[in-house]
Amino acid sequence: MSSAQSKKLPSTGSAEGRPAMSAMQSMPVEGELQAGADATGGVAGGGGMGGGSGGSGGDGGQGGATPQTRTCATMDVHRCLLTDDPSYANVRAEIENLAGLYEGDASIAGRSGVTQIPVVVHVVWNAAAQNISDAQIASQIDVLNRDFRRVNPDVNGTPAPFLPLTADARVAFALATIDPHGAATSGIERRQTTVPSFGADDAVKSQATGGMDAWPADSYLNVWVCQLGGGLLGYAQFPGGPAATDGVVILQSAFGTTGTAAPPFHLGRTATHEIGHWLNLNHIWGDDGTGCSGSDNVADTPNQGGPNTGQPVFPHVSCSNGPNGDMYMNYMDYVDDTAMFMFTAGQVTRMQACLDGPRASIGSGTGGTAATPRQSSSPVVAWGRTASMSSSSTRTGPSRPGRPP
Ligand SMILES: [Zn+2]
Repeated sequence: MSSAQSKKLPSTGSAEGRPAMSAMQSMPVEGELQAGADATGGVAGGGGMGGGSGGSGGDGGQGGATPQTRTCATMDVHRCLLTDDPSYANVRAEIENLAGLYEGDASIAGRSGVTQIPVVVHVVWNAAAQNISDAQIASQIDVLNRDFRRVNPDVNGTPAPFLPLTADARVAFALATIDPHGAATSGIERRQTTVPSFGADDAVKSQATGGMDAWPADSYLNVWVCQLGGGLLGYAQFPGGPAATDGVVILQSAFGTTGTAAPPFHLGRTATHEIGHWLNLNHIWGDDGTGCSGSDNVADTPNQGGPNTGQPVFPHVSCSNGPNGDMYMNYMDYVDDTAMFMFTAGQVTRMQACLDGPRASIGSGTGGTAATPRQSSSPVVAWGRTASMSSSSTRTGPSRPGRPP
């Protein structure tokens, strides 16, 4: 079991074994990501590429179509942040310490009930078809509210040995109703861009580079939906990074369950996976390539070799983890949308540690009941208003009902 392994940050892992992104491992500057991740467009600072096309090459010939194998650039972004921002490593270490405390005693979780997360969806579209409908966005929110509450019907397909480990994450999502200026909002913003296809360099997160600026990350989950190149389905920024780029990015054709959503990523699970990262979950195989030394720092997930893709057949044994093998049906593996349908109790504990720690300022409890996140009483660090956590933006956040003073 992974709990028996030494705890370490995901950053100590080696390459994830994904050829399309492997060139990025040695790239120390985040701005260089674009060259490795997506040759088709999204040049930072350029605001667009005149004659480019999302299908013109450099993305494995996938064009505007949905990739057929899951790839996620979260770890690449994480490694770049470690290189670029000296304070990020320290913050990440503090977050990991807190997660470890919770893993040892889940009863210390401060939030009771269900945390409701306000979501803003930034739709950044180039071709008209990428300007996804409100209904497609609503279908994604519905998926999140099933998956994170463990009311998705397919969870019952979890193999019997793993079924008792499945858990309700006690997190729910709703499109924001109040914008950062206090005005009513649908929680959806749209922009047409000249950028045909974005990469993992965060260009989609800035108006100046063809995308849309984040809303204050201490109050909202930012979700950008756009065309992605390089075979990417999406990526997230782990908690502890810059507020201006905090959130998740999802390929438009891997978002929601209707409209442009296309198999095999047509059930909204890409967002479930990426928001898992946003709540501090690691890939279930531990991001050590295909070795058996990596850990996701969760005790109740089996040690696993590399990522599983497609639709595996139970059991798939690796790293001597028989007879039950890999927990490939976990949202934090790389399988198809139809093949992933559960979080474990240990993962929930880790997410709740995140909600009490680096994301203590976001969300409120059910029924208007105040959540009670751990603030300065944390034995590790005072969360929520440290320099590295707070937004550099001068924008004023909305009122946050239920927040403690
Ligand atoms: Zn991932």
